[in-house]
Amino acid sequence: MRYSQYFIPTVKETPSDAEVISHKLMLRAGMIRKLAAGIYNYLPLGLRSIRKVEQIVREEMNRAGAIELLMPAVQPAELWKESGRWEFYGKELLRFKDRKDAEFCMGPTHEEVITDLIRKEIRSYRQMPINLYQIQGKFRDEIRPRFGLMRGREFIMKDAYSFDVNESGADVSYEKMYKAYRRIFERCGLKFRAVEADTGSIGGNYSHEFMVLADSGEDAIVSCSCCEYAANMEKAETRKSDAVEHADPRPMEHVATPGQKSIEDVSAFLGVNATQVVKTLIVVADGEPVVALLRGDYDLNEIKLKNHLGAAELEMAEDDVVLKVTGAPTGYAGPVGLAGKVKVVADLSLQGMHNFVTGANAADTHLKNVNIGRDFQVEGYVDIRNVVIGDPCPRCDSGKLEIWRGIEVGHVFKLGTKYSKALNASFLDANGKEQIIFMGCYGIGIGRTVAACIEQNHDENGIIFPIPIAPFHCIVSALSAKDDEVKAASEQIYNELMEAGVEVLLDDRDERPGFKFKDADLIGIPLRIVVGAKTLAEGKVELKERRGGEVEILPIAEAVAKVK
Ligand code: ATP
Ligand code: MG
Ligand code: MG
Ligand code: MG
Repeated sequence: MRYSQYFIPTVKETPSDAEVISHKLMLRAGMIRKLAAGIYNYLPLGLRSIRKVEQIVREEMNRAGAIELLMPAVQPAELWKESGRWEFYGKELLRFKDRKDAEFCMGPTHEEVITDLIRKEIRSYRQMPINLYQIQGKFRDEIRPRFGLMRGREFIMKDAYSFDVNESGADVSYEKMYKAYRRIFERCGLKFRAVEADTGSIGGNYSHEFMVLADSGEDAIVSCSCCEYAANMEKAETRKSDAVEHADPRPMEHVATPGQKSIEDVSAFLGVNATQVVKTLIVVADGEPVVALLRGDYDLNEIKLKNHLGAAELEMAEDDVVLKVTGAPTGYAGPVGLAGKVKVVADLSLQGMHNFVTGANAADTHLKNVNIGRDFQVEGYVDIRNVVIGDPCPRCDSGKLEIWRGIEVGHVFKLGTKYSKALNASFLDANGKEQIIFMGCYGIGIGRTVAACIEQNHDENGIIFPIPIAPFHCIVSALSAKDDEVKAASEQIYNELMEAGVEVLLDDRDERPGFKFKDADLIGIPLRIVVGAKTLAEGKVELKERRGGEVEILPIAEAVAKVK
């Protein structure tokens, strides 16, 4: 590719609306341009990196036996109603109507669509296991899109779905994906950790998040200094908190009100297992404290304080909604919806309170005697029961817990029969008996992976791409593009490298050397060959690695051979 004929609109100034380094650098390097909040154009350089990640993902998914397909971005509401998520997904689901008034949404994920496909096509146990994946644009109307591709509204995801005849089969599928994910992120050159993302009292590990370690990460992760234990902070345990969890063994029961449903019904209604970690903690009041359980994210403008929170108050922090409870809340008028992560601060001593009522945003869906920590965990549970650095590890005797920040680039999840049951995706087993299919789902944020990579690989001059996801492997800078000899030599190097299959960018622009070096550093191409009149007089060129490498002055053939 010739720089002079290519499209890399670099920018000298740091864009003011970009907070994290990857966002700043992707804008400055001309990789992306914003169209609207959380919606980006992928410019040629950015697209090349995106495609690199996609290719790695594709190769490893195929290696693991998954099969690529492509599903539509637009999904009919009926399917979401069938799964129950039309009601519960919240505002992240972008809904609209067609000209005939039929309801649709932009797909934020594809469990419904794939399960619908499978229920129509899979009849027999012989057709499983099968794992289908796509690399496709998703839309989630995020409350606060930010950090460029890291948290966009429209973004590219690889999503895979496995279908098995039973749970042990599903475990095997899960394990395969887990291993494929490790390979993918290793191949991308990332420093990452796979962390437990959903333990809970179901037992076993049903979900892992793949976290790229970075200070700018939105997630906190906990790991042991001695053993392999690592978990998302929301799901983290310590031996210290175990003691609290077992302090009150009173069983959870549901409130006997007219029309009250069973725990199973409530769970189904909420779309969560009753013992599953929940996303949002709401404290309201009913003489005794009440915790309402909501699924999904809610728009900040929609916070409705239908109750009297007593001495409680809501505060908007930069990223989170903070619910400060300074005294015992009194007076009940129904559940409250809050957006984002809820931090409970001040001295509402949740450990001591075991008579919580949990419920959804609807009548007759409450559970009594809920014990925080035993029956539910809370996101952003900061000041009260949070794991702190140095806490004893829950898995080994000698380890102490460490805390890191991470970016969730991938997520593997055992779904069980949640969607197959709801959509009635069944098959006939070897005895001709009808059975429900076991599912798993597995996502990777493609753009977020590129951004996370830049978070880990940059310096004050710009991006330092690792080879596997670099848009080009090598840049050849012709220092005086008008000098015939320099021109001829750089053309020759360019052609030779291209023939050898090296992805090379020839900076043939009529610009000053300093200007070209600045751009080369900014866009982060791993290897650079500088062709200048001075060294060329001796038949030599400069070879430099972007990552702090020494400058080597080498004969042309040697430099080319090294790059190949
Ligand atoms: P987050 O916790 O960051 O909101 P998520 O848990 O909602 O992510 P999943 O539903 O697990 O995301 O989707 C799979 C993957 O898609 C994530 O691991 C992440 O890499 C990517 N992803 C999710 N939301 C976004 C987004 N808004 N922008 C870019 N990538 C995203
Ligand atoms: Mg999300
Ligand atoms: Mg997440
Ligand atoms: Mg996730």
